[in-house]
Amino acid sequence: MTRIRANCPACGEVDLQPPDVTLRITRADDGLVGEGSTYRFLCPDCSEVVTKPADERIAQLLSTGGVPIEEAEGLDEALERLLPPHPEGVAPGPRLTVDDLLDFHHLLEGDDWFEQLLAN
Ligand SMILES: [Zn+2]
Repeated sequence: MTRIRANCPACGEVDLQPPDVTLRITRADDGLVGEGSTYRFLCPDCSEVVTKPADERIAQLLSTGGVPIEEAEGLDEALERLLPPHPEGVAPGPRLTVDDLLDFHHLLEGDDWFEQLLAN
């Protein structure tokens, strides 16, 4: 298995295996590895999680070495998954007109509107 040599800020160079590393890619507009892409690993010596920026070259090296890639999704996509569908769907049936509203208003002024409602 490919060995990956990475640098822990506390321990210096450490040897890792591809499954120990996670590559997180944020796609730029052109589909390439964008800014904000990182790779992270758990240091085998001090057990600290180390996160480092990944550029195109590092991302290529790691992914060809067998490191799993995590695609960071855009904010829009993330929100779309979290939010329920838009609630203001168009209700079926004819549109409410001003006349309908006036009729409704007159109906509510009477005393028997509730009886009329029940009768329908
Ligand atoms: Zn360390």
